[in-house]
Amino acid sequence: MARLTASQRNIAITVASVIALIAAIAGALAVSGYNKAQAEAKESKPTVDAKPARPVPIEIVHMPESGGKAVNITIDDGPDPTWTPKVLEVLKQNDVKAVFCVIGPQAKAHPELIQQIVAAGHRLCDHSMTHDTGMDKKPEAYQSQEILDAQRMIEEASGGVKVQYWRAPGGAFTPFNRKLAAAHGMRPLGWNVDSKDFEKPGVSTIVSTVKKEVAGGPTLLFHDGGGKREQTVAALEKVLPWLKQQGYAFSFPKIY
Ligand SMILES: [Zn+2]
Repeated sequence: MARLTASQRNIAITVASVIALIAAIAGALAVSGYNKAQAEAKESKPTVDAKPARPVPIEIVHMPESGGKAVNITIDDGPDPTWTPKVLEVLKQNDVKAVFCVIGPQAKAHPELIQQIVAAGHRLCDHSMTHDTGMDKKPEAYQSQEILDAQRMIEEASGGVKVQYWRAPGGAFTPFNRKLAAAHGMRPLGWNVDSKDFEKPGVSTIVSTVKKEVAGGPTLLFHDGGGKREQTVAALEKVLPWLKQQGYAFSFPKIY
């Protein structure tokens, strides 16, 4: 390299500094543009997915989180514009909190019912998109869709209140769908006592089924969807005070 005079050297240093400065500004602009693009990408996603749910255990739960002599009331297959408000009313009259296992598209169609459920202090459970009781025999991608699409619809309907349980339709649990639900913050939820209200056997039969079987386990299954549920409403009016008389407290199924 040719020898430079002092003034030539100063000019060279100045030119180099200006080039470095321009490069730094260009870099900063590029980073800010990238951050802006990231922020916009984030904003366009549904807000309910913004925070990853805390994973929960994958085992199917039946036990009450309160411990002691307690039952968990679970209400499946809604929400239904006719029957869910009636079930909510009976629960309110008896000061009982329950878990509502709801179907994704029905939650989407009746967000006001989902909001009434959570406002009254009840909890939400994902009961799939289509209530396919054969989903355990189908591909994992299908099972994922049944679970995660429903979760998204229910949480959008609830205004962001989290779904805390996953109950496979007809008990079609698999290790895969339990693990998936748990990774998304939903504890697999079983039942011990099927009131068989679904078969509409008459109010007194529903009541006596619960009375006979409640000693066998704490999680009780009723329905507010899938058909006319007047027998369920009438049975709950009898069963809830009876359970209280027998010394049962009302709890939620354990999540952690
Ligand atoms: Zn069901």
